[in-house]
Amino acid sequence: MLKLLYEGKAKKVYQTEKEDELILSYKDDATAFNGKKKAQFVGKGRFNNLITAHVFNYLTAQGIPHHFIKTLNDTDQRVYKTTILPVEVVVRNRSSYSLNQRLSIPEKTRFSPPLVEWFYKNDDLNDPLINDQHLFLLTDVTELELAHIHALTLKINEALKDFFRQIDLDLIDFKIEFGRNSAGDIILSDEISPDTCRLEDIHTGEHLDKDVFRQGTGDLLDVYQIILSRLED
Ligand code: 5GP
Repeated sequence: MLKLLYEGKAKKVYQTEKEDELILSYKDDATAFNGKKKAQFVGKGRFNNLITAHVFNYLTAQGIPHHFIKTLNDTDQRVYKTTILPVEVVVRNRSSYSLNQRLSIPEKTRFSPPLVEWFYKNDDLNDPLINDQHLFLLTDVTELELAHIHALTLKINEALKDFFRQIDLDLIDFKIEFGRNSAGDIILSDEISPDTCRLEDIHTGEHLDKDVFRQGTGDLLDVYQIILSRLED
């Protein structure tokens, strides 16, 4: 029996027999608006596990340091253990309704260079937007490391834009998380899936991401199946 270290909204984390390796087990639960909206979609865990694996395998080829090791089965993947920084890094290539609400920037406005934002991961505070100085106060990240995270984030954005463009999707925005590995290095961690990205079909303009659940505009499983099928083609 593997030891359950942590259960989050979308994943369970288990310790493996190796001290610095974990198993992430993707759940079928979907939550939105800081857990206020909840549902279960049988098969969602499988989609996010397999789609995340495709993304990380591509990022390996692009020289991005990350935690992913391999897929174990439909819902589980093996990763290197990291201490996750309490920061959500959001990259925006285009404005969405949330930025429109916050700053009145019309939806679909393109950003070049992309906007990079830090949010403090704290459910009780509703993950507030923070600046660099807040980040230094709230984490052990140094100025040099933040510059590294910023540069890496822009490189990840370029790689992800290319990755999704290959399956006819425009990457509107996404959230990533970084963690510190056993050597003390900061590497890309967590998942990259339609739960964490906004993706638009370049031909139809259809949204193929978790917004269909957040906004109640479509069938989450149908949409995630479309993405996985395009990746497996
Ligand atoms: P927004 O700040 O516009 O709501 O989100 C920007 C991007 O980051 C979207 O692609 C969204 O999916 C992702 N994102 C932001 N916060 C979270 C979060 O707490 N969980 C997940 N899964 N994605 C998030």
